[in-house]
Amino acid sequence: VRENGPAKPAPQAPRRRVTLTHPDRIYWPDEGITKEGLADYYAQVWPRIAPFIVGRPLALLRCPSGIDGQKFFQKHAWKGISKHIALVKDPKAKGEEPMVAINDLDGLMALVQSAVLEIHPWGSTVADWDRPDTITMDLDPGEGVAWDAVIAGAQEVRQRLTDAGLAAFVKTSGGKGLHVVAPLVPKADWPAVKTFAKELADAMAVDAPGAYVSTIAKAKRKGRILIDYLRNQRGMTAVAAYSTRARPGAAVSMPVAWEELDQIAPDYFTVINTPARLDALTRDPWEDFRPAAAPLQAKPAAKGRKR
Ligand code: ATP
Ligand code: MN
Ligand code: MN
Repeated sequence: VRENGPAKPAPQAPRRRVTLTHPDRIYWPDEGITKEGLADYYAQVWPRIAPFIVGRPLALLRCPSGIDGQKFFQKHAWKGISKHIALVKDPKAKGEEPMVAINDLDGLMALVQSAVLEIHPWGSTVADWDRPDTITMDLDPGEGVAWDAVIAGAQEVRQRLTDAGLAAFVKTSGGKGLHVVAPLVPKADWPAVKTFAKELADAMAVDAPGAYVSTIAKAKRKGRILIDYLRNQRGMTAVAAYSTRARPGAAVSMPVAWEELDQIAPDYFTVINTPARLDALTRDPWEDFRPAAAPLQAKPAAKGRKR
């Protein structure tokens, strides 16, 4: 940590116990962001990112030579992995390499040391692998879709989630789209959550076929938004809130208030401007994320239901 002037004792300054080798290694060349710069970013956002990455199976995008080098999307532990990274065993996996999880800031720093530039958690925790506590609806705008239309799509997802008794929060992806995220009380299993997400996406595509698609076929995406519900499957992941992206611009996935959407872009928040944003916030737009969790309700029969 570099500082000018007399050192102010920060009340809970996190002590780094993980050694960073090659702290000056450049990860984002255009912004000049180094491994140490990334460590500083994550130390600052630690209290905010922790609920989204601690105690969950993680898939990790490792980029040992930075964003312009080779990238490895890893779902399993690797040789020589840090002791600060927890190895966790999927109770349903047969004979696979263990998966990885982190429990504390040292774990996050170990990820930085291992050149992890993107953190992609499961929507369930290692305490309850089979009952998700998060739904992520991923909006992927095709070529030529205006930002206003992406916002409208996110609002539509929000409305449908709300109608189903769930709370909906929104974050930038740090890439091209938005993620609408609903906290769940872990109760329904993965197949039920996937079915719910698929039905939501399919209904949007049926009601407004010119605006939305719910199947990945690339040809159908031009001018439309893919409502990618497939994040909501056992073993699938979505990028974590506050995770960096291994893309030019050093964008991060940022939780925002619904009202902010028309003032920003999906890659608006970055490693560089996030500290100032967080300092300026009077209220965390996702403050109520976990308290707002509700169980996924079994769908009421539409017609002819016995009373
Ligand atoms: P964008 O807004 O640009 O779409 P995104 O994070 O939503 O950003 P997607 O391509 O829509 O990107 O989603 C990809 C998701 O799939 C990632 O969030 C990640 O969790 C998962 N994933 C699966 N395999 C890979 C891979 N090989 N590399 C990167 N992500 C992968
Ligand atoms: Mn996406
Ligand atoms: Mn997607």
